[in-house]
Amino acid sequence: MLTKIQIDLIAAVAHQLAGKPVIIRERIPATVGVWGEAHKAENGECVIDLSPTIPDEKMLFVVLHEIAHHARHVFLPSDVYKAKPQTLSINEPSVGQNIRENSADAQAAEWLEWGKEHANPRLYQIAPFEGVLIALLDYAKSEV
Ligand SMILES: [Zn+2]
Repeated sequence: MLTKIQIDLIAAVAHQLAGKPVIIRERIPATVGVWGEAHKAENGECVIDLSPTIPDEKMLFVVLHEIAHHARHVFLPSDVYKAKPQTLSINEPSVGQNIRENSADAQAAEWLEWGKEHANPRLYQIAPFEGVLIALLDYAKSEV
């Protein structure tokens, strides 16, 4: 489970990395069997749903993967944000979907590495999740 401060921190990092505001919700995603889901509401708002069941050691990567979708990919507005948890099933992934997933994974890995490198070492020791996210608030695309 995420605290309110963690959710606010994720939202701030998402805004920085994706270049636009993103609404962060902790809820079981609409799509069956996923930990996180990025989508866009009909009014154009970007949304990330994070499952409360994400294991702690996976949380950072899942968060960054979903932010990467909003940074790199265009979503058509939909009403997925209103769908009840676990009511949508994944179709056979298309080649295009696989490419998007791979690119989100690659971006997340790059941010994760950068965040670990730039995190305050003392904070990282105590709270790696917060340490990496706080470091990423200073991530600028020009540094890549
Ligand atoms: Zn994905």
